[in-house]
Amino acid sequence: QPKPVQVKLVLLGEAAVGKSSLVLRFVNNEFHENKEPTIGAAFLTQKCRLEDKIIKFEIWDTAGQERFASLAPMYYRNAQAAVVAYDITKQVSCPFLHALSKTPQKHPFKPKHYIALVGNKLDLESERTVPTEEAQAYATEQGLLFTEASAKTGEYVMEVFTEIAKKIPLE
Ligand code: GDP
Ligand code: MG
Repeated sequence: QPKPVQVKLVLLGEAAVGKSSLVLRFVNNEFHENKEPTIGAAFLTQKCRLEDKIIKFEIWDTAGQERFASLAPMYYRNAQAAVVAYDITKQVSCPFLHALSKTPQKHPFKPKHYIALVGNKLDLESERTVPTEEAQAYATEQGLLFTEASAKTGEYVMEVFTEIAKKIPLE
């Protein structure tokens, strides 16, 4: 059994896109239709077992300060990974992603950090307003990992974290 490699991961994205739901699905394999908003921040851990390594994610799920600029440094200090979530049915949640890319001096996730862009609520395909190609192009341009997922059905949620885990080098 290899010794787990600890990785601090922060959740970023606008309110109600499903950040807490993605974490709850990943950590407990649960989903709540009427999830109460997160108060302050929640801390959860979950391991990802790969063939050659075990990554132990220490996840900070934030609330109320979803805008990157107002996020307290304690949440992202020393964070090696981030999940930036948006809702595929809400075009409005996309400008946040642009804001993220336009704050380079405050951007703590430069090289050797792993960021996954996640289009959540994939189960609401019929209400989609953000095209996959648009988000994929943005992710490629910014050098981010990209996945569309549904915290509700669980589809592709594991993949989000596994893709990040694969990128983490063995110490
Ligand atoms: P957060 O503010 O980003 O942490 O968002 P929450 O996790 O609190 O979710 C906000 C709302 O969206 C809740 O009512 C969730 O039940 C709902 N929700 C979250 N993920 C999904 C999803 O994948 N599909 C659908 N249909 N609803 C979701
Ligand atoms: Mg939340």
